[in-house]
Amino acid sequence: MTDRVYPCPSSDHCEFEADSAAALVEHVNTEHAGEYRRDDWPDTAAGRAVRTGADKDEGNEDDESKVPE
Ligand SMILES: [Zn+2]
Repeated sequence: MTDRVYPCPSSDHCEFEADSAAALVEHVNTEHAGEYRRDDWPDTAAGRAVRTGADKDEGNEDDESKVPE
């Protein structure tokens, strides 16, 4: 039974619910293109799934504070 639901994290009164992170990413890329890059994009599990799914750049620009040992 798959009861895991990914509600659309958009603050734009969107009631879309995906049954997988991939489907949510696809929905966001179609309906909310670029919106996940905004600072007010909710930092929920679904919101992060979209961000990690959409940002597939190799460079980890967010990890600059990480000092290699
Ligand atoms: Zn949506």
